[in-house]
Amino acid sequence: MDDIRELYQEVILDHNKHPHNFFAMEDADARLEGFNPLCGDHYTFYLKFDGDRIGEVSFEGSGCAISKASASMMSAVLTGKTPAEADRLFELFTGIVTGKLPPKEHLEELGKLAAFAGVAEYPIRVKCATLPWHTMHGALHGGDERISTE
Ligand code: ZN
Repeated sequence: MDDIRELYQEVILDHNKHPHNFFAMEDADARLEGFNPLCGDHYTFYLKFDGDRIGEVSFEGSGCAISKASASMMSAVLTGKTPAEADRLFELFTGIVTGKLPPKEHLEELGKLAAFAGVAEYPIRVKCATLPWHTMHGALHGGDERISTE
């Protein structure tokens, strides 16, 4: 697991310093707020469709390095995916960070998201990493209420 741990730290630091798609989208098709009261992570996620695919994902707000890095990577990974593909990644991502799925068996499907397997070693941070995914999952499925991890 040493490689994954190193990759994890590198990815968190990099995305936290230079988050992708970190802006409020004016013409979003869906927007949803996500809040993790345990840590204070609080973001709004924006989603725009391009035909039957996800055209663009963005977010704004504030929180810890793990939540911001997770939101940043999620926004990059979900662009161009179908909602069904996004649902599959949601299941995989939440599975590996909660330790329910062994990352080694899903490395190819996970791609860069495999870096977050390291979160499973820090149970207190799991909700930070999954907050963006739970919120986006809600937005994709027509939710318009604020998503809270509690
Ligand atoms: Zn957090």
